[in-house]
Amino acid sequence: MAVDKNVMVFIEFDGDRIADVSLELVCEAKRLADQLHVEVEGVAMGFEKQHLLPLLGQYGCSRVYYTNDKRLACFSSVPYAEVVAQTLTRYHPQIVLFGATTMGRDIAPRVASKLKCGLTADCTQLKIGSHKIKDKEFDNILLQIRPAFGGNIIATIVSPESMPSMATVRDGVMKMVDPDTLGDVAIVEEKCDVPDLCFLTEVLEAVREEKAVDLKQARIIVSAGMGASDPEGIALVKALADVLGGVVGSSRPVADAGVLDRCRQVGQTGVTVRPNLYIACGISGQIQHRAGMEAAKRIIAINQDPEAPIFSIAHYGIVGDIHEVIPRMIKAYKAKS
Ligand SMILES: Cc1cc2nc3c(=O)[nH]c(=O)nc-3n(C[C@H](O)[C@H](O)[C@H](O)COP(=O)(O)OP(=O)(O)OC[C@H]3O[C@@H](n4cnc5c(N)ncnc54)[C@H](O)[C@@H]3O)c2cc1C
Repeated sequence: MAVDKNVMVFIEFDGDRIADVSLELVCEAKRLADQLHVEVEGVAMGFEKQHLLPLLGQYGCSRVYYTNDKRLACFSSVPYAEVVAQTLTRYHPQIVLFGATTMGRDIAPRVASKLKCGLTADCTQLKIGSHKIKDKEFDNILLQIRPAFGGNIIATIVSPESMPSMATVRDGVMKMVDPDTLGDVAIVEEKCDVPDLCFLTEVLEAVREEKAVDLKQARIIVSAGMGASDPEGIALVKALADVLGGVVGSSRPVADAGVLDRCRQVGQTGVTVRPNLYIACGISGQIQHRAGMEAAKRIIAINQDPEAPIFSIAHYGIVGDIHEVIPRMIKAYKAKS
């Protein structure tokens, strides 16, 4: 197949593994590439990370362009963006996806400005479709979908007149499929053509801070909204999470108020989760919160307002005060188990 017009993913490393967001994007890229009858490629860089790359084949990546250079061992904006831009110029993908991570958010706009192409940040959905501008019809282009104007509209953004179309996507938004252990990827080593003067910073030491809580991996999440943000409400939410073996999450205002840590915030500007069970306690269910949890397998909502939007996506809704409902849930669960 031609090494041209493929769907490319910027591959990030998370210590000594490939970052989950990159694997999620490879899965999404494969879905898009199949519709376009092209292949998925990766662009990666670092120092002696080649041994990690074969995993990409298990998620549908056919080829990865890897630049190995000691100077690329630690992330640095200018050289990383330069390597990505050079790779894109050499191989002409039609679509490029980046994680909306600190690294992706830094590199993607630099690459877009170098290549003078479109970039949409924080997409929540990607599709292949057509679009008409005046009399010109563009087919098989990337539809970059994301909430806009404070989440009041869902915008579809296109950039058909420049190549490639680029998008960033947050961690957890795209679904990771089960790996195919027989999947294979070709590793193409690229020469690092970045002059020393582009390396503007020298990293003396890299210190990794472990996450206090990993909401993404939790199978059960019990989240507190403003309706459960008083000390008694928070204690009840924690107690319910404890008996169920779950993790405590929150809505944004609860994190904004400092009642729970920011790392527990679920939603558009927080973490995107897909647990088996999500219990929303005193959460109204505005679109920005739903964006982060509506892919949960089962949703239980407790809210005293029967008109709360959260009930429109809940599998089970309980209309009532969390101070009364949660103790009864805990009691019932303990009695059963
Ligand atoms: C750009 C942008 C990004 C955003 N990102 C996020 C995000 O990532 N995550 C997020 O959560 N929000 C986000 N928001 C904020 C979002 O719009 C909502 O304001 C927020 O989700 C509301 O939080 P809440 O449901 O906890 O509070 P509220 O909207 O105040 O709702 C509280 C709910 O609790 C109920 N209630 C009150 N007391 C009780 C009780 N005793 N028992 C039972 N129910 C009770 C009420 O009926 C009400 O429905 C964002 C907003 C913007 C503009």
